[in-house]
Amino acid sequence: MLVLDGVARHFNNKAAVSDVSLTIGSGSFVGVIGRSGAGKSTLLRMVNRLVDPTAGSIRFGDVDVTKLKGQALRDWRARCAMIFQQFNLVGRLDVLTNVLMGRLNTVSTPRSLLQLWKDEDRAVALSALEQFDISQLAAQRADSLSGGQQQRVAIARALVQEPEIILADEPIASLDPRNTKVVMDALLRINRHYGITVMCNLHSLDLARTYCDRLIGMSAGRVVFDGVPEELTEGV
Ligand code: ADP
Ligand code: ADP
Repeated sequence: MLVLDGVARHFNNKAAVSDVSLTIGSGSFVGVIGRSGAGKSTLLRMVNRLVDPTAGSIRFGDVDVTKLKGQALRDWRARCAMIFQQFNLVGRLDVLTNVLMGRLNTVSTPRSLLQLWKDEDRAVALSALEQFDISQLAAQRADSLSGGQQQRVAIARALVQEPEIILADEPIASLDPRNTKVVMDALLRINRHYGITVMCNLHSLDLARTYCDRLIGMSAGRVVFDGVPEELTEGV
């Protein structure tokens, strides 16, 4: 369970997120919706401490996320994988290597510099690619793939990290409708099949309604709606 209590973040004396308190149950698929500038991305980034809150606390189980430093912070980041709008793959490396990068972040298996990846890692990475129907692309350079394919590689990389939470920041914003469905289906599959909690920033209300168990509406840094999709009667 992820618990945010009175979380806020200011940039240059201007509030990006103000007094957000939320409890997110394990295994849920939560959509964070709202206009551009509402604070969605800042909220998501505070969960894995890409952005530090200026007030409030974030807890996950008995981990006090806001207080973590050094190795403990790296371990926490391994437990919450991030998916970005622009995929953030290493374009000149092949797809399999990009997915293997996720294995570097697993807490469970320490790696040596001499042998970064074991045969088992390769098998896990290939299996993840198979799940998203892109194993035939394993040897291709990541930058030769379409946007939808690249985002599926990013999701495979997140999955092999064996995270407890996936934080997806507008994961489909640069995709066409067909690839949007493919990528959202991939996130839903991860959520349902592995029970990994998904927190996903979305612009589109229709998509959020279709995929999410719970919607959190944000406006001007504050939560203005929190409920199941059926309760949302008008735009946020
Ligand atoms: P959203 O994801 O909903 O579009 P953001 O969290 O990106 O919203 O932004 C919320 C507000 O915080 C905006 O006014 C934005 O300009 C501001 N902001 C976000 N990141 C920074 C930053 N690194 N420096 C200054 N202002 C920022
Ligand atoms: P399926 O039932 O669809 O065959 P598996 O449970 O066999 O799926 O797992 C497929 C791949 O996902 C394997 O490579 C496995 O290592 C990896 N995997 C399994 N459980 C998790 C998990 N909780 N988080 C991330 N990856 C996982």
